[in-house]
Amino acid sequence: MKIKPLLQRYQALLDLPAHTQSVSLLEGGTPLLPLPRLAQELGGGFELYAKVEGLNPTGSFKDRGMTAAVGEALGRGAQAVICASTGNTAASAAAYAARAGLRCIVLIPQGKVAAGKLAGALAYGAQVIQVSGSFDQALELVVQTSQRQPIALVNSLNPHRLQGQKTAAFEMIEDLGRAPDWLCLPVGNAGNITAYWMGFRQVHQLHASGLPRLLGVQAAGAAPLVHGAPVELPETVATAIRIGKPARGEQALQAAAESGGRIVAASDAEILAAQRRLAAEGLWVEPASAAGLAGLTAEIIAGRLQPQGRVVLVCTGHGLKDPDVITQALPTTPVIPAELAALEALLAG
Ligand SMILES: *Cc1c(COP(=O)(O)O)cnc(C)c1O
Repeated sequence: MKIKPLLQRYQALLDLPAHTQSVSLLEGGTPLLPLPRLAQELGGGFELYAKVEGLNPTGSFKDRGMTAAVGEALGRGAQAVICASTGNTAASAAAYAARAGLRCIVLIPQGKVAAGKLAGALAYGAQVIQVSGSFDQALELVVQTSQRQPIALVNSLNPHRLQGQKTAAFEMIEDLGRAPDWLCLPVGNAGNITAYWMGFRQVHQLHASGLPRLLGVQAAGAAPLVHGAPVELPETVATAIRIGKPARGEQALQAAAESGGRIVAASDAEILAAQRRLAAEGLWVEPASAAGLAGLTAEIIAGRLQPQGRVVLVCTGHGLKDPDVITQALPTTPVIPAELAALEALLAG
């Protein structure tokens, strides 16, 4: 099997500058995993799938956009890239910058980034700087820096990121033969929901492939798009969407409305329950990535949504990114002497 770089695969559909270079880790092409048992549990009568974006090279969908953003920066002669990140953007930027031979600087909110993401950024050789402030403040700093110095900004304010990210919609249409009926996904800075909507609309205009309704899900403690106002001190266990002032909030609201869908909030308890439920299907995702299921479940239970046709949950990042959320919540694992009797006694409970 020969896998092509993502941007090469969809070149004709991407609006990228001609100087964009290929900087690829063979991202994309992620599985669309059927979840029939979970669909039954949610009332049945529809097909449910997870788009497993955690299987991208650095463990999140961010790689789809980063191959474009870093490739463009390299082609334009940038010597360095910079981003603010709740974690996954940092790891992805660091990996693609390494691949391109560029310096990478990432700003993260102090103490609020999951262990696997911080380790990733460091492993790929990025210069990691903690900011004693929020993600939103860190983003402001990098935007200003990129305006004053020859350093390319690779946050999702960078339009090339969205070009790469919309390829997930193309893959879904290829796998299903048409667009799904509902797309449920977490919303943080709101780049991904914006990119999906661009991608679905683009293919629909060309091939009448249909359009999904969008169910965007924010964490209750970081739900500016649900409240209609920025959240000064966003707080949630789902650190990837712990964002109080989404850069593409307006576009996300417009996309959801145009699609006939909406943006809702899910509590941390609902998000963690959804994470466990997905794990019970063999799919371990990080907390933010379970928000789509958390929102869908709550909407079904409240009678506000009756799924029909095909529903896709976008599982944005891998569970290994945030091991602490699991190990802290569970009782400590027992220790026994290396004796069969001890093991059997324990198993007999
Ligand atoms: C970045 C990220 C999100 C949020 O995506 P936005 O484009 O910021 O809305 C959700 N889940 C994971 C795992 C992420 O890394």
